[in-house]
Amino acid sequence: MSKEKRNPYEYCKEHRTISVKTTAGCPFCLQAENKRLKEFARHIIRQYCWDMLEPDGGDIQEWAEKLGLLVPHAATKDDIDDESDYGVGDTIFKFSELLQETGR
Ligand SMILES: [Zn+2]
Repeated sequence: MSKEKRNPYEYCKEHRTISVKTTAGCPFCLQAENKRLKEFARHIIRQYCWDMLEPDGGDIQEWAEKLGLLVPHAATKDDIDDESDYGVGDTIFKFSELLQETGR
């Protein structure tokens, strides 16, 4: 077992601040993420449950991109299958780091 003491603080470049380490990272970044996720949830519920609009994939994707939940990505061979209506190099979207399954 290592006797090395762990540094309980970490520096966040985005917030230019030192804060106590949490298991998930900078608390300011987490607050900002939490806010974006809430905004997305409210938008979806308002539009498609309360206002009873037809689900619109384009609108949902646009909001997800605006809030940093999806990021544009140039399609590679691995992204394409027989059903794909796009080719190598076309811009498609993938989950941002925030929505990665292997994330926190
Ligand atoms: Zn931060």
